[in-house]
Amino acid sequence: MFTLNLFKPKCLSIDLGTVNTLIYLNGELVLDEPSVVAIRDEPGTLEKSVVAVGKEAKSMLGRTPGSIEAIRPMKDGVIADFTITKKMLQYFIRQVLSTGFFSPSPDILICVPCGATQVERRAIRESAVEAGAKNVFLIDEPIAAALGAGMEIGESAGHMVVDIGGGTTEIGIMSLNGVVYAESLRVAGDAFNDSIVKYVRSKHNIIIGEITAEKIKEEVGSAFKSSAIKKKTYIGRGVSTGLPSEFIMTNVQVLEALKEPLVSIISAIRAALEQTPPELSSDIVESGIMLTGGGALLAGLDQLINDKTNLDVHIAEDPLTCVASGGDIALELINKNNMSFLSSE
Ligand code: ADP
Ligand code: MG
Repeated sequence: MFTLNLFKPKCLSIDLGTVNTLIYLNGELVLDEPSVVAIRDEPGTLEKSVVAVGKEAKSMLGRTPGSIEAIRPMKDGVIADFTITKKMLQYFIRQVLSTGFFSPSPDILICVPCGATQVERRAIRESAVEAGAKNVFLIDEPIAAALGAGMEIGESAGHMVVDIGGGTTEIGIMSLNGVVYAESLRVAGDAFNDSIVKYVRSKHNIIIGEITAEKIKEEVGSAFKSSAIKKKTYIGRGVSTGLPSEFIMTNVQVLEALKEPLVSIISAIRAALEQTPPELSSDIVESGIMLTGGGALLAGLDQLINDKTNLDVHIAEDPLTCVASGGDIALELINKNNMSFLSSE
């Protein structure tokens, strides 16, 4: 009913990702935008003004005139630019909140990478407060990812999540709603794209951009050898001719291109397993590894991890929304049970 809805407390769960920002509002996905901001230098000052945010800003990446720059302020999993990150977060929050006169202040939960520093956490918290939050909760990303993937992390048993995003891979081992082991590695989807760009240049003598590399990864990408051949034709710019030229990429070539970043991710997963207390390790042997984040969609990645660890590997049902939906579940748990895994420091 109108009157009830008007006063219903609003709860926002925000996944502030290096590639995508997602927001759940009271259990519903209401925003899914690229974490990109287009900014312009204000003439005569040191100030930068925001020209566009999200999808509109992403369409400008690599296509801006001199005075405008499209940036990903969270690119490497850390806040490269506090002011721009704040503006982006506030823009997204305001976009999903109606600004009605009687609108109550919302509770906002934000998922942060385990590696986020105190200074970064404070900046994220401040942005939410400035955007009108009543209570702000920060939650470690692997916890949100695990909840979103449907894992029962409240049990006294070890659960392992590997979230492969754009800028970072977050590895978390959890038990009793707490993080027992966390590692954030700056090798993920962006590194896969960079490796494909380098490979195409050295093998085909052709220059491609990040967007084509990402397309290749999604269309013929592969992390594990397979007898089935996938191949597709793409267009880049010939290094020697300077002209547009076609080239063919196969899954075997992508596998070769991705070798280095994949080895890094596997090593980090193995290091996590080595450092896990034995009791929890045996739980993980039972429950396996849960993959979340967009990188989980790379073909054959689950098989590769299974091959290198001998553990069962599961891909979350919806790897791209897991963190935000897990944050939403966490908010519900706080409201109902006053859960302790969340700090409102
Ligand atoms: P973040 O949390 O850092 O914002 P996401 O979890 O949203 O990252 O994942 C984005 C990454 O997932 C990008 O690097 C994107 O290229 C990659 N990705 C999305 N779909 C696929 C796919 N089908 N195959 C491989 N990688 C994918
Ligand atoms: Mg993420």
